[in-house]
Amino acid sequence: MNIQVVGVVGAGVMGIGVSQNLAQTGYQVILVDISEAILERAQQEIRKNIRFQGFFKKGENTKSPDDILKNIQFSTDYRFLENAEFVIENATEKWDIKKEIYSKIDHICPKKAIFAANTSAISITRLASVTQRADQVIGTHFMNPVPIKPMVEVIRGYHTSQETITTTQNVLAQMGKECVIVNDSPGFVSNRVLMLTINEAIFLLHEQVATVEEVDKIFKSCFGHKMGPLETADLIGLDTILYSIEVLYESFNDSKYRPCAMLKKMVDAGLHGRKSGQGFYTYN
Ligand code: NAD
Repeated sequence: MNIQVVGVVGAGVMGIGVSQNLAQTGYQVILVDISEAILERAQQEIRKNIRFQGFFKKGENTKSPDDILKNIQFSTDYRFLENAEFVIENATEKWDIKKEIYSKIDHICPKKAIFAANTSAISITRLASVTQRADQVIGTHFMNPVPIKPMVEVIRGYHTSQETITTTQNVLAQMGKECVIVNDSPGFVSNRVLMLTINEAIFLLHEQVATVEEVDKIFKSCFGHKMGPLETADLIGLDTILYSIEVLYESFNDSKYRPCAMLKKMVDAGLHGRKSGQGFYTYN
């Protein structure tokens, strides 16, 4: 199936990156979120990111932000997705929100359209169960920032067909991505490990075993990681971390996934990391 029109649901950290990446690689994008203000901010962020990430340099033969933005239609109206052949969903990591979205797009989008969930932890099989097209639902766990991260964790739900996997691989290849395909399980491979690591790092901070900088330095200097777990948490968003670990806790009924009280308190206080300007570190 040759995909040309891609719907993107959710214009937050991930939806912005996914839309930019798609628009830069020749797709027509319809980006949907719940308010005009969020879409306006998304448009400004995309413009800023294109310049910052060096995709556009004056005098060079690269597409300008205006050329790229021309390929993205911004709307709060889901009916604009009626022509989308492939939808990448990036809404808030809450089951109730995603459940409603899948039920809505299942009615609006063409019967042959594929739904790709960019979730951190929610089971793809569970999301697919809300629709009448379980064989056309797949997980595409993108990494942040999307336009510059070359790898996507692709998740095969219980009913996901080989045709859906092949089409998804083709879309990702055009976006410049490679993928690793794994079977469905809450948190998949990446976040079953990463969310526990980040949560445990927050427990260490809470218990005053080490400072923020010390925790991160150990991972960077001893293990050669590019970023420490607390810097990574700020990049992902502390609200997204909390919701993801709550999904793991509920999915496995295992106390090892209980979120640290300090994480809950920071999210309640609006310290959501880079996107809010304050998390474990302060951003301008
Ligand atoms: P975010 O909080 O930055 O953005 C979420 C967006 O979803 C918001 O703009 C919100 O208005 C929108 N939204 C909420 N309800 C909606 C609805 N009914 N219809 C349309 N839009 C709606 O979160 P994010 O970091 O962009 O994460 C989005 C998804 O991607 C989550 O499932 C998250 O787990 C996953 N994810 C996040 C990262 C990361 O590093 N942040 C990485 C991979 C996957």
